[in-house]
Amino acid sequence: MKITVLGSGSSAGTPVIGCQCRVCHSENIKNKRTRCSSMITTDDGLNILIDTSPDFKYQAMRESIQKVDAVLFTHHHADHCHGIDDLRAFCQKYKMPIPIYANEGTMAELKLKFNYAIREESRFWETPVLQDHIAQSPIIIGDNEIIPLPVIHGKMEILGYRLGNFAYITDVSEIPESTISLLKGVDLLLLDCLRFEPHFSHFGFKQSIEISQKINPKRTFFIHMTHDIEYDAVSSELPENIFLAYDGLQLVTT
Ligand SMILES: [Zn+2]
Ligand SMILES: [Zn+2]
Ligand SMILES: [Zn+2]
Repeated sequence: MKITVLGSGSSAGTPVIGCQCRVCHSENIKNKRTRCSSMITTDDGLNILIDTSPDFKYQAMRESIQKVDAVLFTHHHADHCHGIDDLRAFCQKYKMPIPIYANEGTMAELKLKFNYAIREESRFWETPVLQDHIAQSPIIIGDNEIIPLPVIHGKMEILGYRLGNFAYITDVSEIPESTISLLKGVDLLLLDCLRFEPHFSHFGFKQSIEISQKINPKRTFFIHMTHDIEYDAVSSELPENIFLAYDGLQLVTT
C-alpha cells in the first residue's frame, strides 16, 4: 500500500497567520505544513482518507486525488474535519455516497456540526452524501481489515487506525497498554509530535521519541507539528529510524 502525507501540520498550520518567526518565513518547502491528514492507497486500489482537514481541497488538488472510497475520522476537532464539505466533489463525480467511520463520540459531534452532509442518498448531489459507520474492530473496506486504535487526547478517547503494518496516531497524549499491544509488528508509524514543550493533549518531542522507541516500528514519521519544529535542524537530531514527515511525502509499506 501507499501512504501519502496530505498535511503534516498542527491546528494552525505552518506558517501561522501573522507569525514572524524564522520557521514561518523559511524558504524550505518542508517547513510549509497544511493541516493534518493522510491518504492510504490500498493494494486493491482504494483511496482511504484519514480526516478531512480545512486544507483538504488544496491537498486534493496538489495530489491529484481522483476518488475517495472511505474516510476514517480520528476525532472532531476543527483541524481534522472542517474540510468535510469538499467530499461532495467525489460524491457528485461518481453519484456515490462515501462511507465515513468514527467512534461514537466523534460521530455524534460530526452529526452536530455537519448534519446536512451525513444523510441518505437522494437525487440531490449538491452537498456531500456521507454514510455514517461506528468504527468496530475490524473495519472492512474492500479487501482491507482496519483496526481502530483507541488513544487518549487530553480528556477525550479518540481513534488511531492500523492497516497491515501501517499505523496512524495523531493528537495523542497517552496510548493505553491495550492499544500498545494492538501495535505489535507495525513497520511504519505516523505519530503526533506537536512541539518541544509537552502539551496537555499532545505528545511533546521527548514523549514522541520515547513512545516510538517503545512501539519500535522499522520507521516512525512525526506528524501534526507546529512552527516550533524546523525541518532540517530537528531532522539532524533524531534517532535512527525516526523522521519528520512533510506535506506530499509518499511512503510504501505492506
Ligand atoms: Zn489536531
Ligand atoms: Zn511561526
Ligand atoms: Zn485534536
